[in-house]
Amino acid sequence: MTEEINLQTHLMEMLRKEKQITADLEKASRAKSDFLSRMSHDIRTPMNAIMGMAAIARSHLDSEERLLGCLEKIDTSSRLLLSIINEVLDMSKIESGSITLSEDEVNLPELVQSVVSMVQPLIDQKKQQFQIHINNMRHESVLGDMQRLQQLIMNLLTNAVKYTQEGGTIRLEICERPSDEPLTGIYEFVVEDNGIGMHSEFLSRIFEPFERADDQRIYTVQGTGLGLAICKSIVEMMGGQIQVETESGKGSKFTAFVCLKRTEGTIDEKALCGRTVLIADDDEITCVNTSKYLETVGIRTDWVSTGQEALNRAVAMHRKGQDYFAVILDLKMPGMDGIKTTGKIRENLGDDIPVILISAYDFSEYSDRAKEAGVDGFITKPLFLSRLVSKLKQFLPDTEPKAQNLPEAPPCSTENGFFWWRIML
Ligand code: ADP
Repeated sequence: MTEEINLQTHLMEMLRKEKQITADLEKASRAKSDFLSRMSHDIRTPMNAIMGMAAIARSHLDSEERLLGCLEKIDTSSRLLLSIINEVLDMSKIESGSITLSEDEVNLPELVQSVVSMVQPLIDQKKQQFQIHINNMRHESVLGDMQRLQQLIMNLLTNAVKYTQEGGTIRLEICERPSDEPLTGIYEFVVEDNGIGMHSEFLSRIFEPFERADDQRIYTVQGTGLGLAICKSIVEMMGGQIQVETESGKGSKFTAFVCLKRTEGTIDEKALCGRTVLIADDDEITCVNTSKYLETVGIRTDWVSTGQEALNRAVAMHRKGQDYFAVILDLKMPGMDGIKTTGKIRENLGDDIPVILISAYDFSEYSDRAKEAGVDGFITKPLFLSRLVSKLKQFLPDTEPKAQNLPEAPPCSTENGFFWWRIML
């Protein structure tokens, strides 16, 4: 009797599992069919545009203006087409398990800079605010797959831009956490927006390939439903996880972490030990994080939130005969900005204290005004310890000559083409 009951229970359980598998397969196949029908439309639209524009160009060979217009449209449509094809091919490669990760030396400041330079134009186009915070990053060089890491962060950031209204805010935070594994760090990437958010029913499917929210707010937004599935595969291949918190109408927060082997850093940890630096930035998180970094290499810090406070502090310390080793000022602060504050410091204290400007914006349009006011150097945000230390070291006595008044080199180049396809979506 008991054996029969056990057998029956076992059979029922097998039947239930089989039903579940069939339902899952049906769902996956439905998602793929939906995807194919949407894709055939999405692929035909740019393809038709390319062919149409080529025909128009051929019949206007005498008009340079018309030809240029056609070429521009061909360029845009072909990039869009390439983006769709790349994403589909990428996903199929991942699904068949034929992707292997490379293990190159990755410099995280360079990685972040490349991602920022690619996403900034999209953010500017939608007049959105972009905040970047680097938190507790003690090891900036790791072994990993640069291209896949870029793809992970770019997919999350481009989604944040796409699904956030004009004027919204996008935040990227990168944080290093200790790991139990020797010489390994856990690197966490958080991308947060205050955009359209998602309904909770969608969350169980969000990382599945070809899935998009059934939400009329996204019908006009281009997408394949593959970006997040690709992100999930990347983080899992790197021994990590990805998760999302969201509220419809309020925004979304994606948190992904990966485990990466650290390589020896090149930061000179002793050169600046015992010096005191003043930081002024209206973004409190930047002040706190920068102070924490500098303290790890023995630099004492004071921080304030306005240019006026920075001036008051610098003057007060000067009167005590305890001048700061250097003053770091944010370019854009309400009230007195970094350049005006530098001018006031020069008026009150002369030229001796090095003043460094920090900004997420391109310095080139400010550099003449800044030089005139007496600024000695520039550092591009986000602030990594290596950048801060190498800039500050330029002001040590009897080392290199005073830092040149030149903005930093432009962000490192990447294979921008590789990401165009995602950016275009
Ligand atoms: P897509 O190419 O459609 O953007 P993804 O795989 O990147 O595909 O994202 C899957 C779906 O998740 C999107 O179609 C969208 O519905 C939702 N989504 C992703 N990121 C966000 C975000 N930041 N805010 C709101 N919805 C998002």
